[in-house]
Amino acid sequence: MGFKHTIDVNRCKGCGLCITVCPKNVLEISPQVNTKGYFPAFQARPEDCVFCTTCCIMCPDVAITIDKIANKAA
Ligand code: SF4
Ligand code: SF4
Repeated sequence: MGFKHTIDVNRCKGCGLCITVCPKNVLEISPQVNTKGYFPAFQARPEDCVFCTTCCIMCPDVAITIDKIANKAA
């Protein structure tokens, strides 16, 4: 079983909290504006993500979700 990390860019207010709490320094603020006029967070280094869920728990706008996904081989 693997995990998929998703940020809903149009929910994100670009507060940067998730970037601060990520222990692996995975997240950064995107240079691209979203539909609300904010610069959303994105996974700049997705290969470093350990799916600890800290960013999901901390996001005040519930913009981040981590889903379980079945491995291709399974
Ligand atoms: S799940 Fe953990 S490691 Fe991955 S981006 Fe969020 S806080 Fe960082
Ligand atoms: S904590 Fe949530 S709202 Fe704030 S930058 Fe991260 S994803 Fe966006």
